[in-house]
Amino acid sequence: MLIGGFMKQSFIDFPQTLSSIIFTNGCNLNCWYCHNRQLINGNSQENYSIDKIYEFLESRKNFIEGVVISGGEPTIQPDLESVIDKIKSLNLKVKLDTNGTNPKVLKHLMTTNKIDYVAMDIKNSLKNYDKIICLNIDQDKIKNLIDNIKESVEILLNQDVIDYEFRTTFSPDISLEDIEEIGKLIKGANRFYLQKYNPVSNHTLTIPHTLTDFENAIKIMKNYVPNSNIRGF
Ligand code: SF4
Repeated sequence: MLIGGFMKQSFIDFPQTLSSIIFTNGCNLNCWYCHNRQLINGNSQENYSIDKIYEFLESRKNFIEGVVISGGEPTIQPDLESVIDKIKSLNLKVKLDTNGTNPKVLKHLMTTNKIDYVAMDIKNSLKNYDKIICLNIDQDKIKNLIDNIKESVEILLNQDVIDYEFRTTFSPDISLEDIEEIGKLIKGANRFYLQKYNPVSNHTLTIPHTLTDFENAIKIMKNYVPNSNIRGF
């Protein structure tokens, strides 16, 4: 596994679970506001050994309760499953952060009980996804990507074994109409978080939505997902 970062402990990234976080190196999207940009192309200068991370987890397994595997995009790592197996052998829970572009991997990990919690990004309404993900690929490939994201949403919605959340970073180019569309897409979900956008310094879209905008968006989302909340304000 290519690893671009490791956080020894976090109280906030895995619900009710004191966790360590592995940041995988490499992503198949290119969100313009990405703050893990050094991880997108697998170009992080950091180089973490998975064996050293196992050693750390082994030494803290009576203290740490779980591991978040985040990104980049973890599902593009070919050895994701074997890393999860090793973590589970230490009796630790696993949370997967994913952009949802790899439904087959997601489904496999869920149906084989390898993961305990999933946080899936919804970048925008499906019709405006390309505004965020900035991939220079043809429309057929974008459509394929969107179909995969829809499939991942359905996988999560149509089960009640694994706990999960959907989350959207409320960047300035997402409108309330987009929020309504996201609500329709994930109707009936366990929970949804609307996350604060942290401005990107050299980008033209630097003015974040106000708290009132967030409150109006949450009001809309609650029609579809009653357990919708703001994160980051
Ligand atoms: S999916 Fe996440 S890691 Fe990948 S480009 Fe978007 S924000 Fe960055």
